[in-house]
Amino acid sequence: MITVIGSINMDIVVQTNIFPKQGETVLGELFTTIPGGKGANQAIAASRLGSNVQMIGAVGQDSFGTELYENLINENINVIGITKTKNTTGIANILLHENDNRIIVVPGANFDVSKEMVDANLEMIKQSKLVMLQLEIPVETIEYVLSLCEDYQVPVLLNPAPAGNFKKEWIEKVTYLTPNETECEEIFGANFETVLSQYPNKIIVTLGSEGAAYSDGKNIVRVPGFKTTAVDTTGAGDTFNGALAYAICSGINLKDSVRFANIAASISVEKFGAQGGMPNLEAVKMRLG
Ligand code: ATP
Repeated sequence: MITVIGSINMDIVVQTNIFPKQGETVLGELFTTIPGGKGANQAIAASRLGSNVQMIGAVGQDSFGTELYENLINENINVIGITKTKNTTGIANILLHENDNRIIVVPGANFDVSKEMVDANLEMIKQSKLVMLQLEIPVETIEYVLSLCEDYQVPVLLNPAPAGNFKKEWIEKVTYLTPNETECEEIFGANFETVLSQYPNKIIVTLGSEGAAYSDGKNIVRVPGFKTTAVDTTGAGDTFNGALAYAICSGINLKDSVRFANIAASISVEKFGAQGGMPNLEAVKMRLG
């Protein structure tokens, strides 16, 4: 069983040919609402592959909240740990213009994810093979979960995004840390290869289409990505994390788990939307060969 404690958002996407100037109104091209949030995305990525996933998080009592809650149920995720609070559901307002984008995130209910909500689901955490965290919920809650997992010896996979919320001292309490290259350099202030050698078998850096890398204590192990034509890379990192969690919990060694995660993420970039392209186990196995 995997417990994900993290964010649940609705991505509100507007595609436009022109960005409005200050005070200006323009006509856009396309409008979509897409379920997202790093917590929900990673939970769904692991669940689609066959992991037994439970989520602790919060949505509002608005229609987005209801939709996102049902979306998680449809993805076979145990939602007993999800609270409907008085806040608005978290949203990401995304303006897309050719290859440019402008995003405003309003965390809303995600910032209500509290120690009390964690405590209410303590048994679930204690029984987990792995707890997954990202950094889109309050820092105090993350800190609390890390200390609980240390006390109960539950392994933690932490995806440090957004990197600005990560505290370096947490590294000792984390079993796996999965920054992308930029996040790694932002957190540690050094080239990723230097950082990897300092934390063998713990930090796995994702490198976009190049795949991912970690240190085995002697060498930097580069696990190449699967070459494909990317349609939309949103959520590639989330698919990578969910798939890595699935593979590690299945007892697969780190190198093969990273390879598995690269394959899963490569499938996800072939379709639009963060959750849209997340594969099931069969699809990953076919590509693994
Ligand atoms: P995002 O924020 O877009 O979700 P990220 O910045 O967290 O992603 P990346 O390092 O860009 O993370 O990508 C995560 C993983 O996704 C990579 O390690 C790789 O396995 C896969 N991936 C990303 N882009 C591509 C691509 N163009 N082709 C194949 N695989 C890709």
